[in-house]
Amino acid sequence: MNILIPDVLRESGDIESEIFGTDADIIVGKATSHEDITDEVWSNCDAILAFDQIIYDKDLISKLTKCKAIVRVGVGYDNVDLLAAKNKDILVCNVPDYGTEEVADHTMGMLLSLLRGLPEYTRKVQQRNYSRANNMPTRLRSKILGIIGLGRIGIATAMRAKAFGINIIFYDPYIKDGIDKALNIIRVDTLQEIAEFSDVISIHTPLTSETHGMVDEKFFGFVKKEPIILNTARGLIIDLSALDQAMRKGIVKAAGLDVLPVEPSDDSQQLIVDYENDEEWLRGRLVVTPHIAFYSPQAYEEMRKKAAQEALRVLNGEKARNCVNDFYE
Ligand code: NAD
Repeated sequence: MNILIPDVLRESGDIESEIFGTDADIIVGKATSHEDITDEVWSNCDAILAFDQIIYDKDLISKLTKCKAIVRVGVGYDNVDLLAAKNKDILVCNVPDYGTEEVADHTMGMLLSLLRGLPEYTRKVQQRNYSRANNMPTRLRSKILGIIGLGRIGIATAMRAKAFGINIIFYDPYIKDGIDKALNIIRVDTLQEIAEFSDVISIHTPLTSETHGMVDEKFFGFVKKEPIILNTARGLIIDLSALDQAMRKGIVKAAGLDVLPVEPSDDSQQLIVDYENDEEWLRGRLVVTPHIAFYSPQAYEEMRKKAAQEALRVLNGEKARNCVNDFYE
């Protein structure tokens, strides 16, 4: 069996070899575009483990004559033409959960860091200033965390926050009733309620036409408790200029951002420019990380293993667990 890993840039196929066994031929292409791989190799592969360099458009998919599965080694699959693959009976699958714990832990890390005032305290100690003065620390128990999007990461975050005595409310119009009871958390019906009641607001939706800019000036107009805003989902879900204004006016107390509309940031994002310049007004109120909430060596290994296991299931004629193109036209 021929397993093609066209675009993994650094590693050999060692993890994958262990899963497919010695009979499999693991071809590691290190390609940055599909022309870097010959038509013959594309044509002969039985499955593809796809990192994120190559676009699987109709033209490329038409070159695949034996391929049964394209498995995205990651969550997103917007680089694959799902319908073109379906029309050739190729299953497209992903690995939805490899970083769920890491992203939830990262969200909690930002929440705890801000609510314990760590950015300000560590900055002061570096200046041999041991004063207690700091606007951020507060007791966590009985605070309200408003979660927008109660999927894998939203639930994992809610469970962690509950252990700190934090009360959870959530807004997610796409899930059925009952999960609130199973998890002992409270469902609200509108974004406005999240804005009004929360001390901390954490975003865990996908980026869609509906969620693009969902946390905007209007949203900040409803907040009442000078909340902390956390975003480990996608940068464009928050209107960053509106957040900038809300923070300057003190409507929003602090923010933790792993994702930004423009990554890496540039001069167009004034809030981040002020953060880079350590502007006084922002000190201790913002934590920014470089879109690494998902990352740990263990998560990376799990992602590769699970992608290979999914491809093997398909090649063995078993049911795929995470097929994303099994829709009806
Ligand atoms: P998921 O699909 O399990 O959950 C998303 C939830 O959002 C679903 O329950 C869905 O019903 C809900 N939702 C969709 N539209 C909504 C709307 N308009 N209003 C409210 N809720 C809505 O996804 P997940 O695995 O939990 O991932 C959540 C987010 O985290 C995604 O944006 C994903 O891209 C991001 N993510 C970030 C990193 C990182 O490193 N920062 C890593 C992995 C995932």
